[in-house]
Amino acid sequence: MNRRAFLKAIGSAALVPMMPRRLLAGTTSSRVRPSDAAWPSKSAWKQLDETVGGNLFAVDFPLSILKTSPDSDAAKLLLKNVKNPYYMGDQAGLTETLGWVDAWSTQPSVYAVAARNAQDIAAAVSFARENNLRLAVKGGGHSYQGTSNAPDSLLIWTRRMHDITMHDAFVPQGCDRTLKPQPAATLGAGTIGIQAYDAVITKGGKYVQGGGCLTVGLAGLIQGGGFGSFSKHYGTAAASLLEAEVVTADGQIRIANACTNPDLFWALKGGGGGSFGAVSRLTVRTHDLPEYFGTVNFKIAAASDDAYRRLIRQFVSFYRENLFNDHWGEQARLRPDNTFEIAMLSHGLDAEQPKKVWQPFLDWVKRSSDYSVKWPVTIGSIPARHFWDGAWWKEHWPEVVLPRNGNPVHALVDDVLLALISQPILEYDNRPGAGSNNVWWKGNTGECGWYIWAYESLWLPESLLEKSSQERLADALFAASRHSGLELHFNKGLAGAPPEAIAAARDTATNPAVLSAFALVIAGDSQGPAYPGIPGHEPSVDQGRSAAQRVARCLNELRVVSGETGAYVSESNYFEKGWQQSYWGSNYPRLAEIKRKYDPEGLFIVHNGVGSEQWSRDGFTRL
Ligand SMILES: Cc1cc2nc3c(=O)[nH]c(=O)nc-3n(C[C@H](O)[C@H](O)[C@H](O)COP(=O)(O)OP(=O)(O)OC[C@H]3O[C@@H](n4cnc5c(N)ncnc54)[C@H](O)[C@@H]3O)c2cc1C
Repeated sequence: MNRRAFLKAIGSAALVPMMPRRLLAGTTSSRVRPSDAAWPSKSAWKQLDETVGGNLFAVDFPLSILKTSPDSDAAKLLLKNVKNPYYMGDQAGLTETLGWVDAWSTQPSVYAVAARNAQDIAAAVSFARENNLRLAVKGGGHSYQGTSNAPDSLLIWTRRMHDITMHDAFVPQGCDRTLKPQPAATLGAGTIGIQAYDAVITKGGKYVQGGGCLTVGLAGLIQGGGFGSFSKHYGTAAASLLEAEVVTADGQIRIANACTNPDLFWALKGGGGGSFGAVSRLTVRTHDLPEYFGTVNFKIAAASDDAYRRLIRQFVSFYRENLFNDHWGEQARLRPDNTFEIAMLSHGLDAEQPKKVWQPFLDWVKRSSDYSVKWPVTIGSIPARHFWDGAWWKEHWPEVVLPRNGNPVHALVDDVLLALISQPILEYDNRPGAGSNNVWWKGNTGECGWYIWAYESLWLPESLLEKSSQERLADALFAASRHSGLELHFNKGLAGAPPEAIAAARDTATNPAVLSAFALVIAGDSQGPAYPGIPGHEPSVDQGRSAAQRVARCLNELRVVSGETGAYVSESNYFEKGWQQSYWGSNYPRLAEIKRKYDPEGLFIVHNGVGSEQWSRDGFTRL
């Protein structure tokens, strides 16, 4: 008799929590939905609510008002708010990305536990397991693949767990004899980038590896592998993990580090979020800050295809000679309209050094009438400690404005020549009562409330930078740019990083292709805000499908020279072919084994996550 028939026969789901776990093992074939008789009773939910200190709640769906009263003031305010990542993150029933054509649309869970600590998480995990519920875990809510939302589910929501403690000399539990004390920070599972940067960098004077985007959740970032703007120097976020407190599917609160549950620890370092347990706390290594971080921004338009191809060739060679080291991260962008953008960040270079580095390239551009500079070239550095300091930017902003077409305004602040920036680069959360450090990079606004049409990534191996391969690479980049815009994220490939950063990343579950890649190329397209059924904001399925084809053609041009290297799990195609190999390469069999050990019944299932092959796409039916 299967489990549902058994429950029907006894006529009550209320007995389930009392059943010994071994009786349930291996019996889950499909999970319970609210319409099923086995859905927990009101009194069972009430009991869970009491256990978690009154922090269980029914989840609403803020977008509903756009369907029911699209012309109301509340609807207009909501449309503004969906472009504010802090508003989005504050909603249990929303995710930063609203969906993906032919893939998923965000949907709220039935109930959520706004967890305060590991005990709340453990209660929710046990409740879901014992009642055979679909379980979802959400931190910053930035999954592109929709892995932190699931309809008809119970959600563990860690948003409120963002306490941060700094340590001068941290030793993971049980590692006293094997590991030296080192500087570290312990972060609640709901900590987002800016909270870590504020506490550790602005206030603490150390560096912590978060993401480039300030509202990305650290737990999701680290479990995905995770890259920040300066990962070419510090390595991946996963590699900086020293210890995690994690609730596994059996409801146990476990410590995972190099000495205790080392297999689970390794899996949490890049094995993908939401697959091995619900993390309640993370302790990460902190690093020394350099004196300066810097920025280089400009945009060049080429007069013809031929001139564009030559520009790309020149840049590839220039990159190899001058930028292929741990000082330089972030992006070069290529577009079908023959424009080329640089939006790069430097680590440890003062305001003059980057100018010297870039001068030969800019001279080369200026020598030819085939190229015109579309944005003023802005090169400069700021004190590293203020890089994520919203108040500092606000205070000094008027002094660093550079008129778009004017002469540079050199401003001296703190005796430092500031970056000459042509437009405001930070946005502020203007909701009443919002924290003063609720800021985000303007460049990330487009991704807030968007509906994805296409999105793919691919690691480009270092070997393509060898002299004999540079022309092939440049030509492939040119060919790729005929189909779609693309971005080279230099900080998301570790070739060129210090040996210790590479060694630390080697000891994570991330696809080893990252170690020898000089960049991750990302191409995508989207619209937004958009959501099915909202008048005036319907996702365009036709445009989405043709964008997906363009982006696929774009990446295929690069695959010709790179081979099937792999993709970064957190920034990849929902429809990734051979995702196990693509995301984890030779690490996948070990990850699958660890999954079987800690979650044999598949309680933690996410789209294209380890072990998800055994489940239907919605995570409700065992295949
Ligand atoms: C605008 C934007 C910018 C980005 N920029 C970068 C970047 O610069 N560098 C980079 O590397 N990546 C970047 N990403 C990708 C991002 O790192 C991943 O999507 C990451 O997983 C997001 O984590 P989250 O907590 O915000 O998201 P969520 O959607 O909440 O979670 C992501 C996954 O992790 C799981 N998870 C979350 N919390 C926990 C927990 N406590 N325990 C167990 N599982 C958990 C979820 O179940 C889900 O599967 C970006 C994404 C967006 C949308």
